[in-house]
Amino acid sequence: MNEVSGKFDVVVIGGGPAGLSAAIALAQTGAKTALIARRTPYADNRTTALLGDSIELLRRLDVWRRCEDKAAALRTMRLVDDTGRLIRAPEVRFSCDEIGLDAFGYNTENRALMIALEERAAELSDLTRLDDETVTIKTGSAEVTIHTRQGHSLAAGLVAGADGRQSLCREAAGIEVSRHDLHQSALTFNVSHSRPHRNISTEFHTAQGPCVFVPLPGDRCSVVWVMSPKEAERLVALSDDELSMAAETQSHSILGRLQVEPGRHLFPLSILRPRQFAQHRVALVGEAAHVLPPIGAQGLNMGLRDAADIADIVRHAMVSGEDPGSPPVLKRYDSARRGDVTSRTFVIDMANRSLLSDLLPMQSARAVGLHLVGSIGPLRRLAMREGLAPSWRRV
Ligand SMILES: Cc1cc2nc3c(=O)[nH]c(=O)nc-3n(C[C@H](O)[C@H](O)[C@H](O)COP(=O)(O)OP(=O)(O)OC[C@H]3O[C@@H](n4cnc5c(N)ncnc54)[C@H](O)[C@@H]3O)c2cc1C
Repeated sequence: MNEVSGKFDVVVIGGGPAGLSAAIALAQTGAKTALIARRTPYADNRTTALLGDSIELLRRLDVWRRCEDKAAALRTMRLVDDTGRLIRAPEVRFSCDEIGLDAFGYNTENRALMIALEERAAELSDLTRLDDETVTIKTGSAEVTIHTRQGHSLAAGLVAGADGRQSLCREAAGIEVSRHDLHQSALTFNVSHSRPHRNISTEFHTAQGPCVFVPLPGDRCSVVWVMSPKEAERLVALSDDELSMAAETQSHSILGRLQVEPGRHLFPLSILRPRQFAQHRVALVGEAAHVLPPIGAQGLNMGLRDAADIADIVRHAMVSGEDPGSPPVLKRYDSARRGDVTSRTFVIDMANRSLLSDLLPMQSARAVGLHLVGSIGPLRRLAMREGLAPSWRRV
């Protein structure tokens, strides 16, 4: 048995983008940190629109400079009602210069982001990396004990559970979740196109969900197309030429001729809300703490704020001699994350429901809401700022 026993201030479980960011942020505070995560090649060619303070956090983690050449700036966001219904919302256009920014954020290849995070994590002397999988987690009043598949045994004052939507950490902490299957799937792929995107991200709102074309470097975009699972199964099976044509039709040819690139993936959509964000020496980070449909690019941006907050709270606790897994510290994390996650989950759920609803009052409310946001400057600027990050905090 490959026994590596050790006592850590914090053990991070799960090495997706949220877990790696949390591990780096925690190790940079000087906390003795371990990361338990399999080193596997990133499996799909998805991209992530990193908004607002997410880039600032990645700079502070010394990660951004390692992947920024694989990212495209997002300067304008267009929302286009493509429901074909009688009551349609007017087009809304958000422009970053209206709120004094050079860009709302950057659309980044997940693979490049993961390589950059792994590279930075490997440099940190306060971060012990186990290329392994956690099999048991036992929470106790003084510490958490963790056993891995390869026979390692660790103890920690705090576990940062970043092990995704089926989180073992969440289960070990006895945190209940509500799950809501949306009966929608997201089809993702990348395209090259004959006309420039001019750093404009365009979101077409169809009666089955949004279809968004998000700029990548060069004349390329990533596409996230939300639809019914049956329609998604049909589209994913099309030939490259057929899917290129279908995407071009959906884009109303705003990008000219489209050509899909190799690699397409389907993601069934759901909403997951935990009752608590931290309990029994476990704090939830990333999709262990929140799963949302990909509307408004919020998921990993929230995951990065989880990472920033847990590191900040642990740093303060340790400076003042507090146990980082103690109930008052966990309560601080729960309070820090609750408003952000709950309000965004609610808004995105409502936006999605209003799109799918056949009820005229719901469609009218959506059209009026978008009309107001589109035509009233202060409201539009508020929507832009809140879409980037909650106004009451900084990363
Ligand atoms: C189609 C689509 C488009 C999206 N677009 C955006 C966007 O533009 N902007 C945005 O902010 N968000 C976006 N998101 C959301 C974003 O992708 C997720 O929030 C993010 O990937 C979640 O990262 P994570 O690290 O929390 O989870 P994951 O990436 O799921 O990582 C969890 C990790 O934990 C590991 N793990 C699980 N169990 C164990 C165990 N027992 N021991 C050790 N390791 C374990 C897993 O192997 C995995 O590596 C999108 C999502 C989808 C589906």
